[in-house]
Amino acid sequence: MTKVTEFIRQANGKTLFSIEIIPPLKGQNINELLNSIEPLMEFKPPFVDVTYHREELIDRIGPDGLVERIPVRKRPGTVGICARLMERFHVDAVPHVICGGFTKDETEDVLIDLSYLGIDNVLVLRGDPEKSAGIFKAKAGGHTYASELVKQVSDMNKGILLNAETEMYPTDFCIGIAGYPEKHFDAVSFDSDYEHLKRKVDLGANYIVTQMFFDNQKFFRFVERCRAEGITVPIIPGLKPLATKKQLTVLSQIFHLEFPKELVDEANRCASDKEVRQVGIEWGVQQCRELIDYGVPVLHFYTMGKSDNVAKIAEKIF
Ligand code: FAD
Repeated sequence: MTKVTEFIRQANGKTLFSIEIIPPLKGQNINELLNSIEPLMEFKPPFVDVTYHREELIDRIGPDGLVERIPVRKRPGTVGICARLMERFHVDAVPHVICGGFTKDETEDVLIDLSYLGIDNVLVLRGDPEKSAGIFKAKAGGHTYASELVKQVSDMNKGILLNAETEMYPTDFCIGIAGYPEKHFDAVSFDSDYEHLKRKVDLGANYIVTQMFFDNQKFFRFVERCRAEGITVPIIPGLKPLATKKQLTVLSQIFHLEFPKELVDEANRCASDKEVRQVGIEWGVQQCRELIDYGVPVLHFYTMGKSDNVAKIAEKIF
């Protein structure tokens, strides 16, 4: 399998197309997800990211009639989906690996499975907080920050395991990390956010994928600041086409981002979400054209289960 940074090098300055998918809710058919992204294969994504989701605590009435809180992983299956993607579409799968909900040993087991599957890329993240908790809490024996997990993967690339009695055959993971053009919501300041981003790169991260943004100027400022801080790894913009009026509020709340006034005004003038979807496609095409002119290595789309609008953008761009 090929490393994301190697795909970028081989592209020789040409911008690549890639996507992120989310595992289906527990119990749903995986073929629906795979069928839904099939039309996007026409645009030849060299790699497809698959998100990872921690357990959530849910309330359930127990046999004694009392409410009990039990942990449920609502979207299991990341590793299995990666295997299916590689088999069906002959693309490289990039599983996300998260700190939240895992001990370091459990993470090590997952990373060993991935290396046995021939997966050479991982996107290393802290993970979202549990919805019921609101703030991020590490599992006992787990990592608190993505930088610690980057170090664990880098160590495995050097043949260092946590508690091994034997020497390990080194893994060879290419490590991606997240970056936030509009600042991560927990960061006390932009300065500290860049400091922590730089630490992840210094510990071995090979490339950055950004949180979604709708204003390219924010991405350009982010790249310039990264370069000024001495971060030289490739920076891949993460993109999502606006699809409904409600997303103007929901996405800005969840992802802590600001929509440009021009896009908000255009969306608000629409009489239906069908029209908003079209506005989102046109905005996305403009964003992509400008990002290609800027020289981005990859346009990485968050499909979030629906991909027809991503396909419409890709048709115009690739
Ligand atoms: P970190 O790099 O650990 O940073 C988290 C916060 O802590 C930041 O504010 C940072 O400035 C601060 N910080 C870092 N180090 C320190 C330190 N030493 N001391 C004090 N503060 C520090 N979530 C999922 O659950 N599953 C996914 O699959 C997933 N995929 C994602 C993909 C992308 C491209 C992006 C952008 C996000 C994704 N997320 C996913 C969401 C992500 O997990 C959250 O945004 C999470 O809150 C932060 O993750 P991180 O890796 O950026 O964390």
